[in-house]
Amino acid sequence: MEMLEAAKARGIKGLTITDHGPALGGRVNSVFFERVQNPVDGIRLLKGMECNLIGSEGKIDCPLEFLKYMDLVLLGIHPNIRSGLGANEYTSMLLEALDRNPYVDVLSHLNNSSYPVSYPSITKAAAKYGMAVEINNSKIALDRTPIEDTESLVLACKRAECRVALCSDAHVVQEVGSDEGIRPVLDRMDFPASLIVNRNEDAAMAFIEERRKVKQDFLSGQIK
Ligand SMILES: [Zn+2]
Repeated sequence: MEMLEAAKARGIKGLTITDHGPALGGRVNSVFFERVQNPVDGIRLLKGMECNLIGSEGKIDCPLEFLKYMDLVLLGIHPNIRSGLGANEYTSMLLEALDRNPYVDVLSHLNNSSYPVSYPSITKAAAKYGMAVEINNSKIALDRTPIEDTESLVLACKRAECRVALCSDAHVVQEVGSDEGIRPVLDRMDFPASLIVNRNEDAAMAFIEERRKVKQDFLSGQIK
């Protein structure tokens, strides 16, 4: 409720809440997915989860029983995965996960130096599957990743014509809607607005609708 109120006060039309998946102790459950419906007037609550890669066979920890309620499924590599492997290993683990879980919508913070991946390979695959790549604000604003790394990621998205989702990564109310770290990078890279899925409300809802069909197809077994 606080996050929604803060977002509304900043003129935001919709807020997607994506707590971590179960492998990282996320707390989203049936109450959140099945019962909470737009609790704050004037702002849309969208629901999702940031799932975790959980192995080398493309497995992720998305609870499929909630998939039909999810507007946005994120996937990221997190500390439940051993660090210190090379970019080749992490890239192939992630590519396999995309192949097996086509309902994933957004790949989160690929610019994480603990888990390096090949940006050209991943952005090309993401574009092929219609997924978007997250450009994460707090990683930049809190100096958690070299800015050159984020620039390379943005450039790879531009070259692969891979769509991006701008994300505040807000963990406290003060951060809701923040994009002060992202904007200068997008400007420097002359990034096309048409590739930003959440550039405005209509574009964001169109992306969610488009991806909802992929989830429905997956659930009905048409995509394996
Ligand atoms: Zn994450």
